[in-house]
Amino acid sequence: MDRRSFIKRTGVASLGIGLNYHKTFSVTKNNISNPLVIATWNVKNATEKAWQILSKKGNSLDAIEQGCMVEESNEQGQSVGIGGLPDRDGNVTLDACIMNHKGDCGSVVYLKNIKHAISIARLVMEKTPHVILAGDGAKKFALSMGFKEENLLTEKSKTDWINWKKKEKYKPIINIENHDTIGMLAIDKNNNISGGCTTSGLAYKMQGRVGDSPIIGSGLYIDNEIGGAVATGLGEEVLKTVGSFLIVELMRQGYSPTEACKIAIQRIVNKPGSNYKNFQVGYIAVNKNGDTGSYAIQKGFSMTKYDKNGNKNISSLFFEKI
Ligand code: ASP
Repeated sequence: MDRRSFIKRTGVASLGIGLNYHKTFSVTKNNISNPLVIATWNVKNATEKAWQILSKKGNSLDAIEQGCMVEESNEQGQSVGIGGLPDRDGNVTLDACIMNHKGDCGSVVYLKNIKHAISIARLVMEKTPHVILAGDGAKKFALSMGFKEENLLTEKSKTDWINWKKKEKYKPIINIENHDTIGMLAIDKNNNISGGCTTSGLAYKMQGRVGDSPIIGSGLYIDNEIGGAVATGLGEEVLKTVGSFLIVELMRQGYSPTEACKIAIQRIVNKPGSNYKNFQVGYIAVNKNGDTGSYAIQKGFSMTKYDKNGNKNISSLFFEKI
């Protein structure tokens, strides 16, 4: 295609977009003042903790941090914090990020031996001039902030890893416990939105692998004027499509949270040669009006929502053509 036909084509295309661009986001419930929290998967204890803060007029950032910490402390959960399944070499490495209503964010990648990765991410945001700290630097920073090192590899996760090593066949599997990142979005009494995401990443990943969860725009994105989105599932696919940023931008164009999540999933599914049948990705989103939604590739994804109507786990819509 020469330059002229490119300009002609893109000109026509942008005209088309212009003509169809009838939707834009508008705040219709100005004074909702109804706090709410949503999270990926069935994590009622985490949303309960966040709600305790939100219902007492606490701010959404504190709710996110405290809510995520519940799962990071839960040894039974094998994809977040302590008890997380290790990489191929037996290291539990954590990724997390947090974003507030002012558009500030912080993240940690490849953090070892400190279970509350979400708190370190928050401190990166609040106490450093940086956005991301990795590996030894992230740990050094955590220790300097008073956090203590601990072994995150529980006996159960160690046994599972040793059993896995006998076969050593790495294959991302749909919807099992190695895809269980907690992603959380909250709106507080002041209508301010914050979000967080914390994970031990893909089970038995290559050493040094970092997923979408600590990458702002991919695993999480917040725009306080519009809403927020967060991802779970095969991080590589979320990274390639910058999923959470995409969802927020789609909501800006007027799509509902569910529609926006669905379009982001379609981006993954429709990629040339996509082998989407073999993996899971799920998104949840909230807009400034307090509307929420989710969408996944495969059946089995769910969202936990705590608002004035209580704490509920809600099955997600998913891509039908499996
Ligand atoms: N998104 C995470 C990652 O790829 C995995 C998960 O959701 O559990 O690291």
